[in-house]
Order: sequence, then C-alpha cells, then structure tokens
Amino acid sequence: MKVWNYSAGPSMIPVPVMEKAQKEFCDFNGLGMGIVEMSHRSAEYMAVAAEAEQLLRDIMEIPANYKILFEQGGGRGQFAAVPLNILPEDGFADYFVTGHWSRCAYKECAERYGKAILHECVEKDSDGNFYIDYSKMQVTPGAAYAYACLNETVNGIEMFNLPETGDIPLIVDMSSNILTRKIDVSKFGAIIFGAQKNVAPAGLTVTIVREDLLGRARKYCPSIFDWSVLAAHDSMYNTPNSFAWYMAGLDFKWIKDLGGVAELEKRNCQKANLLYNFLDSTDFYRCPIAKSDRSRVNCVFTLKDESLNAEFLAQAKSEHLVGLKGHKVLGGMRASIYNAMPLEGVEVLVRYLDKFAKAHS
Ligand SMILES: *Cc1c(COP(=O)(O)O)cnc(C)c1O
Repeated sequence: MKVWNYSAGPSMIPVPVMEKAQKEFCDFNGLGMGIVEMSHRSAEYMAVAAEAEQLLRDIMEIPANYKILFEQGGGRGQFAAVPLNILPEDGFADYFVTGHWSRCAYKECAERYGKAILHECVEKDSDGNFYIDYSKMQVTPGAAYAYACLNETVNGIEMFNLPETGDIPLIVDMSSNILTRKIDVSKFGAIIFGAQKNVAPAGLTVTIVREDLLGRARKYCPSIFDWSVLAAHDSMYNTPNSFAWYMAGLDFKWIKDLGGVAELEKRNCQKANLLYNFLDSTDFYRCPIAKSDRSRVNCVFTLKDESLNAEFLAQAKSEHLVGLKGHKVLGGMRASIYNAMPLEGVEVLVRYLDKFAKAHS
C-alpha cells in the first residue's frame, strides 16, 4: 500500500535513497557487515563520511573557507551552540523573529546565555495575511551576530530576501529548506540544519561555518558543541550518527545525479504553485500567508469551517494521505512537500482537497 506522507519531519526520504540503504543494509560494499555495525574510525566508514561531506560541498558550492560539521543535538542543540560558540559573555546578538523556530532560538539565547535583542519581523496586512517586514531586520552596531530562520516550518513563512548585515555575521537556520533552492553560502557566517526535514533520518545536525568564527567558544561550552573541536576532529571527536551521515550522503548523491539544487528548486516551485494556486481558487480553504512570503515546502492552510477539521483528516487518512495536521502551536493544516515529494504527491493532494471541498459546499 502506497501512503502519501506530508509530515513536516521526520518526513519523506527519496525512495531510491531508501532502496539503496535497504539493499546495502546487511552487507555494505561486500564487506560482510552493515554500515551500522562498522567502526566510525574504519577506513571504509571514513571514506563514506568524507564522500558525503564532499558531495554537500559540491551541490551547495560551499567555499573552501567554510567547515562542514556533522553533529547531534538537533536544531535545538544548535540554538544553544550558536551563542556558546560566538556570543561573548558581555556581547549581544540580534534575533530576527519570523515564527516559531526563530522565537525558540531567541529564547534559548536570551534566557540562558546572554543578551539577545528581539526584532519582531512579521506583520499582518489589511487582508489578515502574515508577511515579513524586512525593514525590521536592522542590525545593532556592535552585535556579535544576527540570527534568522530562512524557513519557518510551523508557520509556513519563508525568507526569500536577506537582511543587509554588513560585517556582522548572519547565522541562519535552514532545517526545512536546505537544498530546496540555490543560496550563496558566502553571504552567511554559519548555516545550521537538522537532517530530518529534508535530507535523512533524525539524529544528524549539520553546521556549515566560516572558519574565522571558530575558536571563540566559551570555556564551558560542551566540547561536543564546540565547533572548533568538531572541526579539528573531522566531526569524529565523539561517535557521530554514522547511519544518518551515510544516508545523508546517499541523499546528496541523489540530488547531484538528478541535476543538483537548481533542478530541485524548479520542481519545488512547480509543486508549490500547483498547491497554492488551488487553495487561492477556492473559498473553502485559506492560506494565511502573503503570497510573497509563502514557504515552498511547508504549506499552511485552514478550512473555512474549522468544525470539519477532524473529518478532513480522517477521510484523508482513509485515502492514504497522512501527516496533514498543522503543528500543535498553530492548529489548522500543513502539507510539507520537501525535495523527496514528487509532483504526483501534490497532484494527489489537490485532487483530495477539491473533492472534499465539493462534498462539503
Ligand atoms: C524542526 C526544526 C527545528 C528543531 O529541530 P530539532 O532537531 O527537533 O531540535 C529547528 N528549526 C527549524 C527550522 C525546524 O524546522
């Protein structure tokens, strides 16, 4: 039975990637054992790890003066790691808040590690739709860094523009839109992402960090979160999530072979347009985000008549469409259509939305 999975994370992984992992699971490369059984320090595993890193460097065109770190602790771990690594105890940082996850990052810094300046950057327009007010993204002179989340997974808001931060490093969370569109890595001090939204199984977190930001961690920063310790040990200071790292490598290879990030961006635009155009064409559903700021990968919408929510979800499930319930802090519905979701999955969803609307109008 085929299920269409619109979960926000952990979420779909490309079928060819899962099939390759399955094929190799018990016997990797004729070595007579599986990758999950192998020492992370064996020559064979180190080659797998190095290849994954190189593939990511290739498909994102990551410049040589950036380190790529493979860590654990998730996005939330990095919410702590960012200030612990680059916020001096007597310094301050600017946080541009556009939704749930940037607010969580702001709180982690402000409540535990030091001075964080809150910039509320989302407003409501006269139609009641949320939009990003980029004019609010002003850095404070002397800030150690500025922080933003480029795709708010819960709220369905994506940043397609960047604030001008001058010499102040811009640190961004791309957990849910990494590799979904082309970006210029050199514009950022660091990029963080958890793998479970758009790349691989949960339990792997990647930090891409400009080298000049290394070596500044606070003395009490746990070694496993100290970017310079990880960089010095090729992310093998402690045992990494060897399986997720390997699967991330398979995913990066899948991306490279299908034509790279540019090709995925094209597909993601096509999928998102199909879904949003349909939602805009009915008055049964409503997307509360201004058109310019709608996430290409997390489409948030509500039913006009919220009393139909439970029936909407139950019927979707009976037709093998799962994971459509919105995040608990927001309610409503959310369809996550990451890189692994084919166009057909969006077509199936639109047909279901249309059928449900007609049956209840
Ligand atoms: C899911 C998510 C997080 C939190 O990740 P965890 O691995 O659960 O800590 C942070 N930021 C964004 C943008 C996310 O989508």
